Amino acid sequence: MSTDSVRYESFTGWVDAPTDVRPALDGDLTCHVAVIGGGINGMSSALRLAERGQDVVLLEADFCGHGASSRNAGQLAGAPGGDLQLLNLLSRRKMPGMMRLAENAAHHVEEFIAKYDIDCEYEATGNAFAAVSRGQMGRVRRVARIVTRAGGHVEVGTAEELGIPRGFVGGMREVVGGRMNPGKLSLGMRQVLLDSAARVFEQTKVTDVVDEGGQVVVTTPHGRVRADHVVLATNAFAGEWDITPKHLSVPIYVIEVETEPIDPARITALGWTSGMGLVTQHAIMENYRLTPRNTIVFGVRRLERGTSYPLPAKAPDPGLVEELTKAFALRFPSLADVRVERAWGGWIAITSSWLPVAGRIGDRVHYSIACNGHGLAQAPYVGTLIADAIVEGARHPDLETLWQEKPKFPPPMMMGRLGLRLIWAVDRFNDRVNGSKRNARRGVAAQIS
Ligand SMILES: Cc1cc2nc3c(=O)[nH]c(=O)nc-3n(C[C@H](O)[C@H](O)[C@H](O)COP(=O)(O)OP(=O)(O)OC[C@H]3O[C@@H](n4cnc5c(N)ncnc54)[C@H](O)[C@@H]3O)c2cc1C
Repeated sequence: MSTDSVRYESFTGWVDAPTDVRPALDGDLTCHVAVIGGGINGMSSALRLAERGQDVVLLEADFCGHGASSRNAGQLAGAPGGDLQLLNLLSRRKMPGMMRLAENAAHHVEEFIAKYDIDCEYEATGNAFAAVSRGQMGRVRRVARIVTRAGGHVEVGTAEELGIPRGFVGGMREVVGGRMNPGKLSLGMRQVLLDSAARVFEQTKVTDVVDEGGQVVVTTPHGRVRADHVVLATNAFAGEWDITPKHLSVPIYVIEVETEPIDPARITALGWTSGMGLVTQHAIMENYRLTPRNTIVFGVRRLERGTSYPLPAKAPDPGLVEELTKAFALRFPSLADVRVERAWGGWIAITSSWLPVAGRIGDRVHYSIACNGHGLAQAPYVGTLIADAIVEGARHPDLETLWQEKPKFPPPMMMGRLGLRLIWAVDRFNDRVNGSKRNARRGVAAQIS
């Protein structure tokens, strides 16, 4: 599989940047709520507030949808992210709430797409936790039991039963959710927001947020906003200000790559009849999904830690593209000759619990970090619930599930460069062991036949 002519995108492979970027804030203003960050999280908050008749301003450093929201794999998950066995061990009581939140979040996005008729190629295929080995299949079965006990809707089966490629052993299908073009969702949401009563300032990087008691003052290069409430929705970039709680999250860079268009007959031959997006059961997953342009988008496998703010505008590491490409050839041997056409990446925020979190600093500054690789569903939902909480002064039960009473967080474990390298090494070791077992089985089968 060749990576010779990979195009490294500075934005995303899903859409082009908008040509009508809104002007920056120039001067001072006041408002009831200022939302900082125009990803699907912040846009959802601002939109809901505008729809509920609030005087809302949104401030975005680049253009709305510039961050992870347009760069992700487009897999709308119907289950919580993170290591569900570990979560069940550490926070068993939280599982039913997290499960409900995950499914409600996916439905919320589906309803948004339908309500505004957003053309983002959404298909409610579900997604699968896909096992690349018998060991991973055991893990899938354990996770399925946990999810079912927590009220989630999943089905376990072999690759054939689930309609996923035969290179996988089997998996667990999340019945809720599906796949889409996330760039189109983000830019579609941006258009709905621009058409709303919200005042949107793009190219406006917030440099400071200070709660002065009566009001919060938000500073930008060419003007200040005074607001009764502020929503921090900058995801991985949240650590840029003093007001952000310590250890709220760790910034991690992840990438996706896309193949050249593949002959549809070769895709059919894979047995991927369900069209579901796949995530493997490695400690750091690989994801694979089909697109309507007959390509396969795949990614992650290795996490790169951001070490200082402001986070740099990064491009994917060619070594990682190469590594992902080799993994692709293992999972899809019949497509080993397909070329990789492009690669892109983005910053996400990982919380120490690997769960989405939301809360308040003082009475006026709200924050929401709803990602951990599952933000496509959860970020818009949590953003909307935060808006409702500001208007109503009460929290929806799903927001309550992830609400932090005090903005205090333990330091994240294994999230240093060394820890991440170690997790990566364990995954690779398991891959090698499973590869040897697979080859041994093939050898025996060849001798028998
Ligand atoms: C490669 C990749 C693959 C992924 N795959 C999936 C997937 O398949 N499924 C899934 O559910 N999730 C996935 N995710 C995660 C998902 O994309 C995120 O969780 C989600 O987009 C978070 O949305 P957000 O609005 O919180 O953050 P973002 O989209 O990152 O938005 C934050 C915004 O804040 C702005 N900003 C930053 N600093 C400032 C400042 N100082 N002033 C003003 N604005 C500022 C940024 O420009 C940005 O637009 C993936 C992420 C990546 C990067």
